[in-house]
Amino acid sequence: MSDDNETHDSARRTLFKVAGAAAVAGVPLVAGNRAAAQNSAAAPEGHPGGAGPLKDPRELYVHSPFQAQPQPWPGLASKMIPRPDHGETTYRGSGRLAGRKALITGGDSGLGRATAIAYAREGADVAINYLPAEESDAREVGELVQQAGRKFVALPGDIRHESFCKKLVKQAADKLGGLDIFVNCAGRQHAYDDVLELTTEDFDWTLKTNLYALFWLTKAAVPLMPPGSAMVFTSSTNAYNPSPNILDYSMTKAGIADYAKGLAKQLIPRGIRVNAVAPGPFWTALQVSGGQSMANVEKFGDSVPLGRPGQPAEIAPVFVMLASTESSYMTGQVVGINAGNGLPG
Ligand code: NAD
Ligand code: MG
Repeated sequence: MSDDNETHDSARRTLFKVAGAAAVAGVPLVAGNRAAAQNSAAAPEGHPGGAGPLKDPRELYVHSPFQAQPQPWPGLASKMIPRPDHGETTYRGSGRLAGRKALITGGDSGLGRATAIAYAREGADVAINYLPAEESDAREVGELVQQAGRKFVALPGDIRHESFCKKLVKQAADKLGGLDIFVNCAGRQHAYDDVLELTTEDFDWTLKTNLYALFWLTKAAVPLMPPGSAMVFTSSTNAYNPSPNILDYSMTKAGIADYAKGLAKQLIPRGIRVNAVAPGPFWTALQVSGGQSMANVEKFGDSVPLGRPGQPAEIAPVFVMLASTESSYMTGQVVGINAGNGLPG
C-alpha cells in the first residue's frame, strides 16, 4: 500500500469515528465539510430541523468517502456507518397532521422511517409495514412514535403477496380506527451490471415488490379512504434517468410515477389526492444491502450537483406536505428531491 493510500485510509477511519460517535451520542450526523469531519473530534452541528441558522446545503451532513459495508438484504439502518439521520433528534412538528391515521410501508428505516417520525410529531397515528427481519429497526420507530404521544401499530409481512396486502390495509384501518394517509415507501433495488445476470426470479421480485404490491395496496385502500385523504408513492430520479445497473428497478419507478399521475385523475371524484416523490441518492439500508455495488457505496452521492447523499430527514417535510391539507391543490404531481438534478419538464 502506498503512503497516499495509508493517509487516505486513516483519514477515512477518522471520519467514520467522528460520525459514529456523533450518532451514538444522538447527535445528527453532520460534517461541515470533509476536512472538518476528519480533523475535529467535536460533534458537528446538527441539521437545524428547518428553524436553525442559515446553512449552505453542501455543508450539511456527511460526504463520501463511505466505508464499504455490505449487509444481507433487506439491511438494517441500525448497522449503517454512519447511521442515517431520520430526524430522530431534529424533526419538529406543528400539528400539520393532527388526528390523521397513516399507513406507511417500509416504515422501519430510511425514507419511510423519517416519514413515520415526522407524521407522529405532526399529530398522526402511524401504522408501519416492514419485513420480519427488520423487527429491531421497527421497534426503534415504535418507540419514537409513542414518545411523540401517538398510537403505533406494527404490521410485519411480505407485500409480494396479494393476500397479505389486502390484510395489511384492513388491519391498519381496523387498528388505527380509519385510514386517511397511505404512503408506499417499501421498495426493492438490486444492482446487476449486466442484463444477462438479471434472472427472471429477480426481475419478478422487483416488479412484485415495487409495482404489484402498490396496485394491490391501493385497491385495498381506496374504498376505506374518505374525501380529503392522501396517498404518497415513492418513485425515483431513476424513473427519468435510469442508472445502467438497476434496469428492472428503474422501470418500476417510472411505472410508479405514471401510476400516481393516472390514479390521481381517477380518484378526484372520491376526493383522494395522489402524489409521488422522486428522490435522488439517499443514505439508506437499501443501498448497502444489494442496491449498489460497494464501489458505488464508497462514493455514494458524489454524482449529484450538491455533491453528497441526502439524509432521510431531508425528505420527510415533503412527505408531510403531500399528506397535509396544505397541499390541497396538488394531485398527480411527482416531486423531485434530487440535489440539483431537475426532473424533465
Ligand atoms: P430502506 O431499505 O430503508 O427501505 C425500503 C423498505 O422496503 C425496507 O425497509 C423494507 O421494509 C421494505 N421492503 C422491501 N421489500 C419488501 C417486501 N417484500 N415486503 C415488505 N416490505 C419490503 O431504503 P429506502 O432508500 O428508504 O427506500 C424507501 C423507498 O425509497 C424505496 O421505494 C426506494 O426505491 C425509494 N428510493 C430510495 C432512494 C435512495 O437513494 N435511498 C432513491 C430513490 C427512491
Ligand atoms: Mg428497512
